Amino acid sequence: MERTVPILSSNEADEKQAMLAAIIATSDDAIISKTLEGMITSWNPAAERIFGYTEKEAVGQHISLIIPQERIDEEAHIIGNISKGNKVDHFETVRLGKGGNYIPISVTVSPIMDRTGRIIGASKIARDISEQQASIEEKARLYEQLKELNDKKDEFIGLASHELRTPLTSINGYLQILAQRLTDEKDQQFLHKARQQVLRLSSLVNDLLDVSKIGAGKLQFSVDNFNIRQVVDEAVDLISHANHNYKITVHSDVSELLISGDAHRIEQVIINLLTNAIRYSPGSLCAEVHLSHMAGEVKVGIRDHGIGIPADKLTEIFSRFYRVDNSLSTVSGLGIGLYLSHEIITRHQGNIWAESESGKGSTFWFTLPC
Ligand code: ADP
Repeated sequence: MERTVPILSSNEADEKQAMLAAIIATSDDAIISKTLEGMITSWNPAAERIFGYTEKEAVGQHISLIIPQERIDEEAHIIGNISKGNKVDHFETVRLGKGGNYIPISVTVSPIMDRTGRIIGASKIARDISEQQASIEEKARLYEQLKELNDKKDEFIGLASHELRTPLTSINGYLQILAQRLTDEKDQQFLHKARQQVLRLSSLVNDLLDVSKIGAGKLQFSVDNFNIRQVVDEAVDLISHANHNYKITVHSDVSELLISGDAHRIEQVIINLLTNAIRYSPGSLCAEVHLSHMAGEVKVGIRDHGIGIPADKLTEIFSRFYRVDNSLSTVSGLGIGLYLSHEIITRHQGNIWAESESGKGSTFWFTLPC
């Protein structure tokens, strides 16, 4: 395409020329011009600094002087674009310095036209991005290091929880034998307490094992059709049985609704949400469970009247090992229950979220396709 350039008076042209020359001489970027055949016609001081060749050494040479052998095809691509009047913008590549060193650069190449608009060459602005590149590489290295440490930590959690499970199972076995032999009522009470603590410890160890399985992509589900109402009722019964003073009411007009998934894992989520509802509600003795069915999904909500969760923490609570700062200091925990619940629900193609008002209580919702 032919283009015309504005004709300037000779004074204006001289002034403009001088200004351009000053800009080129002081630029931090290498500014190089070349013919369409690739012969270098100008070479500014920044090009000397970056590539190591003086103006005298570079002008008159072919641009391949600074192109590594394996990238020589790039020149044909660039010249192809320039000949059609197109600009090549911020092309990141590598060029060769005088000492044979590789220099990462970002290059912009534009066509140079004569007074009639005919393309006669190309001007190339090259920015040395070594530092930028080094910082990207450093970040990538740090990221890799962090990932490695994290993998090691996950591996340790997995191994430790696995090792802890074996003695726990045998303690539980011995406590069961003891339960059959002890006759004194007081002793039976102590034994009951010990067994409760062992169960609590087992559940923590199992959760930790699940967390490490998620990290390793090995958390497996056994999928079948199950009645969600039955799973909700069983979880409520279990928690009510262990917390006599607490009243949990189920609100639902669903009596039977089959969904596909891992019933045990879904029960684990409901138990976890109910346990939290009790743990984080020191002044209250009731919670409500809502179960409804609409447009291809089932929705379960667990509402408590406890300490609530600040609005800016409502999504963070589902992260691994996250605990809200203002959590009751008396409630101990590892911050993994909601992380596990989130993983289980999303792996069932559902959603889980929380709504809350600080000081008034929280509702945890999850949906599952059905
Ligand atoms: P844990 O309770 O063991 O710390 P979770 O993953 O179950 O771990 O919960 C993460 C955090 O979310 C808790 O530490 C607590 O700060 C907050 N949280 C969870 N459930 C509730 C709730 N029902 N009411 C108030 N805060 C809650």
